[in-house]
Formats: sequence, C-alpha cells, structure tokens
Amino acid sequence: MSGRLYDLSPRLTQALAVFPGDVPLSREEMLSVPRGDPVTLSALRATAHLGSHVDAPCHTEAGGVGVDELALDRFLGPCRLLAVPAQRGGRILPTTVERRLGGAPLPPRLLLATGTAPDPERWNGDFAFLDPALADWLAGRGVRLVGVDTPSVDPSDSKELPAHAALVRRDVTILEGLRLAGIPEGVYELIALPLRLVGFDASPVRAILRAP
Ligand SMILES: [Zn+2]
Repeated sequence: MSGRLYDLSPRLTQALAVFPGDVPLSREEMLSVPRGDPVTLSALRATAHLGSHVDAPCHTEAGGVGVDELALDRFLGPCRLLAVPAQRGGRILPTTVERRLGGAPLPPRLLLATGTAPDPERWNGDFAFLDPALADWLAGRGVRLVGVDTPSVDPSDSKELPAHAALVRRDVTILEGLRLAGIPEGVYELIALPLRLVGFDASPVRAILRAP
C-alpha cells in the first residue's frame, strides 16, 4: 500500500466556484496569533456542496437520509477511473460507459472523467451530465458509488434532477466536483470520507486515489 496518491479535491478558497446563488466559502478570523492572541481561531461558512463532495439522499428526496447515515465502506476501496470524453452539455449514456469500459472489470466504485468543467474557479453551467438510465446500468453491475468531475450529475438548470433521483433509488452514492484531469485511467483505491454531519444534505470530502 505505498502507491502514488492523486489528490482529487480542488483547493478550498473564496475563489472556488459554487452553483450560482449558493454560498461560497468564507473564513472569519475570531482570534489571531500575529495580532497577539494566544491562538488563531477561525469559523468557516459555505455550502455543504463545496468542492469535492458527496450528496446525501436527503439532498433531492423527501425522507432521504442525511450524509451521516451513508455507510463508510462506500467511500473506501477499489475504484475505476474511466475517461468518458464529452461535449459541453453532453449526456453520458450507459452505452458510452460500456464502450469506454470495453469489458474491463468494474469494481464497486466508478469515477467518470468528462473534462467538461475544467476550472474549479470558473463556473461553467454547460457541463456534461449523466443519463438517468445509468443508475440501473451501474447498480446492475454492483457499482455503489459514482463520481464525476462536474458540479452535478444532472444539468445545471434541471429542476427535476432525474439522475440524482435514479441514483438514490438504486442506492448508488454520488460524488461530485472531483478533479480528474491528468490522472491515468485504471483501477485505484478510493479514499473519500465525508464528515459526520448529522442530517446534512452533503459533505465536502478530501478525495484521493491511491495507485496499486
Ligand atoms: Zn448533486
């Protein structure tokens, strides 16, 4: 277990883009060592969907569980990184994933690199999104977590959020906002633990791929 680590999390700063109207990160410094206080102490405020994050079922479903109730084993273990080059605003279909996979083994975690939201500090709403039919395709092959390099698995202007709904229905956990550019495709160990935020609709994660 000494393989190279790939950091999939964008830097969390005030400049990090969030959904239009959502709350960007800010830091309020209560105490400061340079100013003569005994400690530096700060408070943060931000959307729970900050940078690389997991969506909880309650984000989109009435009665869905909060992020604290997601099983930890989802976020740890064998994971395939797959490039699915897409057009801006393109739809990722099961056939696209199947073709790109080419019969390679599929562990219970799959990260899809679309390349359609390239700059974490510059919002573009025309990122690629998942066809809701992918939920059945993934769940049918034992996938329990899917991650994307975009702010959402649904189009940015979607109100129905059909991919979120389908994935929640099939109990496939959603990771969003990953940085996947430049990482070779293949099978890795994923480490992407959410905070134990009780009842929250999401949690930031520090997402890492460890090469074998
Ligand atoms: Zn989401």
